[in-house]
This record gives sequence, structure tokens and C-alpha cells, in this order.
Amino acid sequence: MADFNWQKGFIVDFALTGGLSSAAVSTKRKLSQMRGIFSDPDAFEKAVAAGDPVVYEFYELGAPENAGDVAFGTSVTYPGKVGGEYFMTKGHFHRILETAEVYYTLSGEGGMLVENPEGETDFFPMIPGNAVYVPKRFAHRSVNTGTIPLVSFFVFRGDAGHNYAAIETRGYRKLVVEGMDGKPKIIDNPRWGEE
Ligand code: MN
Repeated sequence: MADFNWQKGFIVDFALTGGLSSAAVSTKRKLSQMRGIFSDPDAFEKAVAAGDPVVYEFYELGAPENAGDVAFGTSVTYPGKVGGEYFMTKGHFHRILETAEVYYTLSGEGGMLVENPEGETDFFPMIPGNAVYVPKRFAHRSVNTGTIPLVSFFVFRGDAGHNYAAIETRGYRKLVVEGMDGKPKIIDNPRWGEE
């Protein structure tokens, strides 16, 4: 982790225009690290065996975990599908559930799938130049429904933390799949709630 000065301020290059000179270090998620996340296990194993692609990566800077600090970074979700389901991030709740987040889309095409513990769900388009406000209490997952990387800049409260376990065990209530017309479609997850 580079030595960012959270007391005096700093600039950071996410190197999205090419030539990775960035001091930010990305965390990569390969498909094999997402076992149980996609709905079609056969298609999943086939895609892992066929080359185990990187599904997404994110650049985070190690912000201090204080309520008064602001964590931010850049997320890149690659294009692809597992069965009919688009490549996406694992998705998470915040450990402090009552904290929101903003995602500003820089390039690509897709959406933010959200759900709260009460069962409310939504899918917000992610369009370059547009920001999505993910309200407190909502788990969030980026889905790439296009053909180029979906790149967004995110910002949230420094101490919010991440809770991946709830999504890993129960899954999401909704899936984003390619419809017969080739367009994205939101459907109920038939396996939601299976442990
Ligand atoms: Mn978050």
C-alpha cells in the first residue's frame, strides 16, 4: 500500500487513461474466487476451467477507518457472462449498515443492483457521467451488461467496513441475466436463501 497522507492530503492517479503509473494497488477477483456467487454452477466450473478470468478489480487506498475520513477508489468490472448471468462484483453490505455510498460511472455500461435486509430491491443504470447514490442499509453490486470494462469511482464513510458474508451465504434476491432479446433482464433468484 502506498504511503498516502490522510492528514495533509494527497493526489492519486488511477491511471485510467493508460500507462499504469498509479501508486494505487488493485485487488483482483478471479472467477474461481466467486464460487457460489453465480447462479449456474455448471457454467461457472466450465468458465473457471476455460481460463479463470479476472471478473473485477478495485483500487482502494487504505483510508483510516474513522467516521470523519472518506474512503474512495475505483472499481473495474470486466465484460463477460457465466451462463446467462453478467459478470458482476460479489456485492456487500457495509459493516455499519447505516452508511451510504456514491458510485460515479466513468466508462462502460451496466448497473448497480441493490437490496436491503427488508427485501427492497432496485437496479440503477450505471451510465458514464452519472452518479448512483446507494442509500444506507442497501447491499450493492456492480453488474457489467456491456462489452467494455465498467469503470466507476466510489466514495463512502471511512469506518463503514464491508460485510460480504451475508451475500456469500444467502445470495442476492435478484439476478441480472441476458434476455431472449439480448438485453439485460432482472429476474428473481430461484436459489435465494439457500445456505
Ligand atoms: Mn460499499
